[in-house]
Amino acid sequence: MIEARTLTKRYGPFTAVRGIDLDVFDGEVYGFLGPNGAGKTTTLQMLAGMIRPSGGSIRIGGHDLATDPLVVKRITSFIPDRPYLYERLTAVEFLRFVGGLYRLSGAECAMRAEQLLDLFELSDWAGSLIENFSHGMKQRLVFAAALLPAPRLLVVDEPTVGLDPKGARLIKQVFKEMCHQQQATVFLSTHSMEVAEELCDRISVIHRGEIVATGTLRQLQDAAGSREKRLEEIFLSLTEQPATRSSPV
Ligand code: ATP
Repeated sequence: MIEARTLTKRYGPFTAVRGIDLDVFDGEVYGFLGPNGAGKTTTLQMLAGMIRPSGGSIRIGGHDLATDPLVVKRITSFIPDRPYLYERLTAVEFLRFVGGLYRLSGAECAMRAEQLLDLFELSDWAGSLIENFSHGMKQRLVFAAALLPAPRLLVVDEPTVGLDPKGARLIKQVFKEMCHQQQATVFLSTHSMEVAEELCDRISVIHRGEIVATGTLRQLQDAAGSREKRLEEIFLSLTEQPATRSSPV
């Protein structure tokens, strides 16, 4: 589903992402871990077509993001770490707006909106202004909007931040079902080792803009020399050296 080659992002003289390769398969929940400032959000923004890479290439579902951006965006949903909602719309108006962006028919949009509002326990709030929603309700609406077009790829930055335990569990279930039953793909960043261990089929660890490990939890444990090791321990030893802004590529 995702094929990235020598993907690079420079901000002026600083290189945030240094020529990384990614291969993410259909039907996978893929976790992207890394310390603060490692380059996770920058990578996710490039994969979602929100910012242009300084170098390298991205293919999504076999399409080149640089030459076929609309085809890619039609099959992709992106949830940024700080999603933006139009607060003066009601939940259902917002979903209708998103459905319009993805060119869903009115009937399909209405049917999917109803199902998703129900799934995310927002049906009673469908006609309420978003500005009156709690933080967690806004988060759940963001997920409903992202799933509305039934994306083949969902790119999501920190999916469980701000959700209560029940909301977090629901999201994990939804992701597993999307990927393992419907062959969609979820590419997520997280600081939660528990989310990564429990949810992700494979994981990459990025540190100072470079990928320092990729594999299943088992493969990462084997590389670290013990199946007893928790992901937290493996992560900490992979990312021991502090980030620096003074080491250009
Ligand atoms: P966190 O876990 O803290 O969210 P992250 O892994 O998502 O971190 P990024 O947000 O991708 O990290 O940032 C990677 C590096 O790129 C950081 O050093 C950051 O300061 C820098 N950076 C990100 N965006 C810009 C920008 N627009 N201009 C300049 N530097 C930037």
